[in-house]
Amino acid sequence: MAPRSVGAVADPRYLDHEGPDGHPERPDRLRAVGEVLDAHADRLTPVAAREADDEEILRVHSQEHLSVLSLAREQAPVRLDADTYFAPRSESVARLAAGAAIDLARAVARRELDTGIAAVRPPGHHAEAGRAMGFCLLNNVALAAQALRATEGVERILILDWDVHHGNGTQHSFEDDRDVLYVSTHQFPYYPGTGDAGETGTGAGEGATVNLPLPAGCGDREYVGLFQRVLVPVTRAFRPDVILVSAGYDAHADDPLAAMQVSGEGFGQMAAIVRALADDEAGGRLAFILEGGYSLDGLREGVSATLDAALAPEAPALPPAVDAEEGTLLGQAIAQVAAAHAGRFPGLGAAD
Ligand SMILES: [Zn+2]
Repeated sequence: MAPRSVGAVADPRYLDHEGPDGHPERPDRLRAVGEVLDAHADRLTPVAAREADDEEILRVHSQEHLSVLSLAREQAPVRLDADTYFAPRSESVARLAAGAAIDLARAVARRELDTGIAAVRPPGHHAEAGRAMGFCLLNNVALAAQALRATEGVERILILDWDVHHGNGTQHSFEDDRDVLYVSTHQFPYYPGTGDAGETGTGAGEGATVNLPLPAGCGDREYVGLFQRVLVPVTRAFRPDVILVSAGYDAHADDPLAAMQVSGEGFGQMAAIVRALADDEAGGRLAFILEGGYSLDGLREGVSATLDAALAPEAPALPPAVDAEEGTLLGQAIAQVAAAHAGRFPGLGAAD
């Protein structure tokens, strides 16, 4: 088989967004990811980073938000909320993150690449249309999805968000939209507070938001089980043209911010399931966009496992079906989503 063409965005300018000492969203995160990309460099195709322009950003964000960012640039360093710092170069770096996510997704949609990873920061999924939030300035994955629809003729997009936090900004960007399916696994209740299973979309988008909240302490078994028994049937029913992954690695057992127990191997199994789904349901079109992950070892293990699944010449072996007996954490999580989406997705809850 021909080797896979797997794109990677990595750019030293992402290190220029730097906050107060001790802030978890720090340049060292990308240095750690960069080590993993370097180790795979002979099998990765570099994708250049460029700044997203106003027209692209306004597909998701408000003019007021752009004004806040340019004012912050004049006042930097400042904080945009309790968690979200803004350094002198932060607007430029955020535009580079968004532009790279857009260009990687486009290259995948056009089949110029089989798949790829955008190793960018700051992360994006908490950024709302009108405000920065939770370390995020621009919503990179939402901007990528809107770019595919605006310029590539892509109609149906699955955004899978496996970051440990709920992607409130992404959900809100698409909750009334039936053509962008948002599926999120997240620790719950936890920051940012949204993501209850009962949030299933609004108006024409009812049913196109699938929240999979999990209590603290869940690990490979619950994540892999939910992918097998919920993500797979939901994706098969939706039939996306492209799959975008908000790939955060803060569900890793070592992560200092959250309380999940996912291992490097678990991330590899999750990535393998998503790779197989993309191959079967989306013509192989799959792009990973970095979100959170605050343990450097967790980032290294998670990104490495993701790349292994992305680079495998043929779809990698899938993990065996995880049991989901009633009363277990996995069984409860499945029952909750099945109740919220009663009858909407054939096979939901079953492993095939
Ligand atoms: Zn996160």
